[in-house]
Amino acid sequence: MTTSSHTKMLNQLKNKPTILKKFLKHNAPKLRQHGRNIKHCKLCGTTRGMISKYGLDLCRRCFRLNAKSLGFKKYH
Ligand SMILES: [Zn+2]
Repeated sequence: MTTSSHTKMLNQLKNKPTILKKFLKHNAPKLRQHGRNIKHCKLCGTTRGMISKYGLDLCRRCFRLNAKSLGFKKYH
């Protein structure tokens, strides 16, 4: 299961409380203390290519799209 799909699954099971209970018992992801999966991109939710510098908490792709609006300037 991917890191972003766990909450989507909960939305689908909202109207089926018994199945939701069973899902949470058997399939809920482990709560982690450290490692790659505790850092998520604020915009897209991926765990890959994270930039934590300056408190950005964005992945490299979202940073590239939003860098100008955040006030970063590209020098050649
Ligand atoms: Zn992202």
